[in-house]
Amino acid sequence: MSDCLFCKIAAGEIPSSKVYEDEVCYAFNDIAPQAPTHFLVIPREHIPSVAGIGVENSGVVAHIFEVIARVTAEQGIESYRVVSNIGRQAGQSVAHLHFHVLAGRDMTWPPG
Ligand code: AMP
Repeated sequence: MSDCLFCKIAAGEIPSSKVYEDEVCYAFNDIAPQAPTHFLVIPREHIPSVAGIGVENSGVVAHIFEVIARVTAEQGIESYRVVSNIGRQAGQSVAHLHFHVLAGRDMTWPPG
């Protein structure tokens, strides 16, 4: 999508701190980290949120979770949280599917 911030980041049109990339997804450090490790994993394909996942594109999500497992293992991260906010009330601020990966500090439950 031409006016989507994360589409532009995945395309390299806006700079980011890359963590990982392949043909399906792109991972980069969050600009406002909420934990010592805080990166985002996004599909290259524009999907607005988890609410836009269906049989036609759910393979992208499976791939992203494989990537999360691999990248965290490579970084020696054993405990982490994966979060995806859907919609305004849940705190979604960028309308392109993304999974936050947070680690490196104690976390509370339930989240705020
Ligand atoms: P959410 O609020 O769940 O939609 O998450 C969006 C995340 O994107 C927030 O944690 C922001 O800090 C992060 N973010 C926004 N702009 C950028 C950027 N240019 N580079 C990296 N992270 C960003």
